[in-house]
Amino acid sequence: MPLLSVVIPAYNEEAMLPKTVSVLTELLSGQVFSYELIFVDDGSTDHTWDRIRQAAETAPDVHGVHFSRNFGKDAAICAGLAQARGDCCVVMDCDLQHPPQTILEMYKLWEQGYEVVEGVKHSRGRESLWHRASAGLFYKIMSSATKIDMRSASDFKLLDRKAVQSLLSMPERKGFFRAQSAWIGFRSASVYFDVQERELGKSKWSTISLVRYALTNILNYSTLAMQIVTFAGAVVFLLAVILSVQTLIRYFSGNSVEGFTTVILLLLFLGSVIMISLGIIGYYIAQIYQEVQQRPRYIISEMT
Ligand code: UDP
Ligand code: MG
Repeated sequence: MPLLSVVIPAYNEEAMLPKTVSVLTELLSGQVFSYELIFVDDGSTDHTWDRIRQAAETAPDVHGVHFSRNFGKDAAICAGLAQARGDCCVVMDCDLQHPPQTILEMYKLWEQGYEVVEGVKHSRGRESLWHRASAGLFYKIMSSATKIDMRSASDFKLLDRKAVQSLLSMPERKGFFRAQSAWIGFRSASVYFDVQERELGKSKWSTISLVRYALTNILNYSTLAMQIVTFAGAVVFLLAVILSVQTLIRYFSGNSVEGFTTVILLLLFLGSVIMISLGIIGYYIAQIYQEVQQRPRYIISEMT
């Protein structure tokens, strides 16, 4: 019997956890495959870990990993995949916004030989207009940066053992699961799902954290920003040529004015272009520095 692992990152999900466990257990037991549930507690500050432990004590198919602090959803997914022993692994949210029934559809596609089955958002559920618009913009930029269409991508996926292995072999510290699982390739298929309402608890993302997440991932997955620096340099050079020709003509025709204002403006303009460029390059250097440090992606403090 093939084994299906379900990897579930959970951060402050004490309200949802018992329900998630019972819904998944009910759905997955008595199927043609055996299953295991791997909950990764991403350093929750509530009783999530106690709930996971309780569930693991009563059900042998439930396992738990506890981080020493909050390392982020992508790190939690990575840890879960590293623990999973299944022939295929499904990654899903803890809040049941990813409809569990879809797992069975994904499994059928896996049986047909697909190695990566993407959950694609058919509708995004109830969301503010602002959220929808900014998410749209983010995925547009990400899609063109990574050359992978991610406009309706989600973290709800089924991965074959081979795909899991290649994901785990990627050494980067700052992984972005959504982009990585598209990058690895493999025979892939999609299933559509409607994002459900979150019943209990609340979303872990504030607008600021989403903006930060978006910026980090855009900069991590493309060198576009550095190319902008080169482009800015070229534009400034062009301006410099035009301005020097004009200045020389004035000088030789004998009516060079005391252009003190021009000097101040030029200094300020060039100064800020240089500073911004340095900042962008500095960002990439910081990323390189962090990768070179080779710190672990996450630290596990306890396991069931
Ligand atoms: N999550 C996590 N670490 C974090 C933030 C979120 O593991 O730092 C988990 C969370 O427990 C949930 C999933 O990621 O299982 C999606 O989070 P959420 O429902 O808050 O996001 P949304 O559905 O609003 O995009
Ligand atoms: Mg959610």
